[in-house]
Order: sequence, then structure tokens, then C-alpha cells
Amino acid sequence: MLVHIKKLIQQAKKEKYAIGAFDTFNLEITLGIIQGAKQAKRPIILQVTPTTLKYAGIESMSYLMKTVAQNQAKNIPIALHLDHGKTFSDIVECIKAGFSSVMIDASNLSFDKNIALTKKVVQYARQHNVWVQGELGRVVKGKQGYDKLIIEPEEFLTDPDQAQEFVKKTKIHTLAVAIGNIHGLYKMRHGVPRLFLSRLKEIQKRVNVPLVLHGASGISSAQIKKAISLGIRIINIDTEIRMAFKQSLIQSLKVNKKEYDPRKILFPTIKNVAKIVKKKILIFGFSKK
Ligand SMILES: [Zn+2]
Repeated sequence: MLVHIKKLIQQAKKEKYAIGAFDTFNLEITLGIIQGAKQAKRPIILQVTPTTLKYAGIESMSYLMKTVAQNQAKNIPIALHLDHGKTFSDIVECIKAGFSSVMIDASNLSFDKNIALTKKVVQYARQHNVWVQGELGRVVKGKQGYDKLIIEPEEFLTDPDQAQEFVKKTKIHTLAVAIGNIHGLYKMRHGVPRLFLSRLKEIQKRVNVPLVLHGASGISSAQIKKAISLGIRIINIDTEIRMAFKQSLIQSLKVNKKEYDPRKILFPTIKNVAKIVKKKILIFGFSKK
């Protein structure tokens, strides 16, 4: 069932857990994510990036997400979100398509420009009763990002004082933070740097909006649980979904080389995506109670 993200966050705040936010790319991954949520019996955020929307078309992708969420998971609350929106038009398109939450990622701009663009998005989104996620600090990507982060963390980590000013000036609903988290596959192959949890603590003290952890694929459950206890309420998983899809697809093609029915070839990917989604949800659903 489709719900506004507000409902999911209210519950997560009350019970001190984090909602899994999973990136989808196609029909099979969407079905897999929904099945994982059904198996875990917990709400999720179903999200998509502008590059996927360009690849598949916004109508095809948003209708797919809405239809699957409404018809295949009638008892599971699901909110739709735009992940890493880059431009104002990305935002407008997704709000028109019925998303209840959008991210404007202007974290590569200067502090002032990030505030200006994020604020513009928030003003528009609020007129449509849509939540906005902003990002401050830079969540690096791959080996290059990892090397730079290790040498000069201060360049990338979210500054707690700036975070306070950013939230106040933009009036965002949720904030994505950079606390040592990294996008992409590199960290999964080479071990993850520790999360800067003391930094997260400082941010949480100054900011009263729910915090979002991007690039969480491959981070240990122990670190994830600590981050949740320090105010992380949404955790993004993308890379591990891509990997689950790819691995089962390779396996499927290998096992029966003569098969040419796309449904039979692709069916195992749904199950494999569901497996990783369920596993993550159960970790994020950790509660201090
Ligand atoms: Zn991200």
C-alpha cells in the first residue's frame, strides 16, 4: 500500500529504528524489493534515481513502482522517493508522478548554492505536501573517493554547525549526512572505513530532522545499529541490490544455457533481491527496546 513518507518516519522515530530505502531499476528488482518487504513484514521506501527515470521513462517507471506497491503488497506501507535528484525539473517530474518524498542533492555545490537550490525545492515541494531530503557534506564514490576520504576526512564529512544552519535555512524534512559512508562497490571489496560515529552524534545534537545514511551497502550490522541509535532513520541500499541481481542472473544463465524464456532466466533475480532486502530490513528494524 502506498503511504506518505511522513507516516513511515513517525513510526521509525517513535520506535527508534531505520527504514530501508531501496533503489529499483526494473520490473524484477521492484518485485524483489516488494517481496523482501513482505517477507520481513515491515515498511520500506522504494526509490529511483534520475538516470533510471531517463533510461526507462518516468511514466513507465513511476507507474511500475506505484502499481506494484499498491497491488502486490496491500498490507505493507511503501513510500516512493526520488534518490539523488540533481535539478529542479527532476523534482517537479517526480512530484507530478506522485512521489511523497524527493531528494535534491546539491552537495557538490558551495554551501550557499546548496542552500539556495535546496530551499527553492523545499518551497515548491511543500506546496504539494511532499517531503524533501537535502545533503550536506560529500558522500564520496569508489577507490578515488575512498583514498581522498582517508587522507582528508574533514573535506568530506558533514560539519555539525553547518548542518544546523542548513536545516534552519532550507527547512528540509530529512538530511543525508557524510560520516565516512561511501557510494559504490569499492568499499565492499576492500573493507569499509569506520563510520565517524562521534561526528554523527554531534550532528544529531544540533539538528532535529531525521538523518539519512547513503552508501550503506557493505557496512557491518554493528556499525549500522550504532548509527541508528544516533538518529539515522533512513538507510539507502543500492549496490547490494545491483550485486544480488547480477549474481543471480549470471548463475541463471550458467545453469541452463539453452533457456531462452526471459521469465525463467530472470525469475531467480527476484528471489535474490528479495533475500538481501529482507536481510537488510531486519537489521535496520533493530530496536533498543
Ligand atoms: Zn546516495
